Amino acid sequence: MTSATVRQLTLRIGPDVLHAAEAFLTDRGADGLEAAGLVAFRARSGCDSIAETLIAPDQVADNTGLGCWVQVTERGKRELAARLQAGCRYLARIHSHPGRAFHSPADDANPALTHEGAISIVVPYFGLGLRRGLGVCAVYRLTAGRWMPTQPRADGNDWVIGSG
Ligand SMILES: [Zn+2]
Repeated sequence: MTSATVRQLTLRIGPDVLHAAEAFLTDRGADGLEAAGLVAFRARSGCDSIAETLIAPDQVADNTGLGCWVQVTERGKRELAARLQAGCRYLARIHSHPGRAFHSPADDANPALTHEGAISIVVPYFGLGLRRGLGVCAVYRLTAGRWMPTQPRADGNDWVIGSG
């Protein structure tokens, strides 16, 4: 099956979830640390899903001066499983970078989300980039096993990923 034949969900993210993400990422960023969370979505009519909440699980991060890393702990993984509400699914990962937003080889290899169509959002400047919305973030969609760049579009105060 080629990527063109895969029906991709259209995902909508509203300002509440983005503000929660910005608050969490910049709080860690104030200590010079990257941070990561998963966004739980609730299915809507058809193939549309809407972001319901950001879950920021237990995680460890370090800034060595040469580079930054963040990793969800085993406790964090259990937390993610326990806090997912009925009818919701984790469809997007969001994490911060100290500077430019891009998918690093470590990000490519991160197994947090592995399903076809999963979204990965990289926020620049320790989360501050979210003040400009998703348009300045690097957004990727797992398509036929590869993280492919995708451009979200603004729709009022929401951001929409994927045209379906
Ligand atoms: Zn990264």
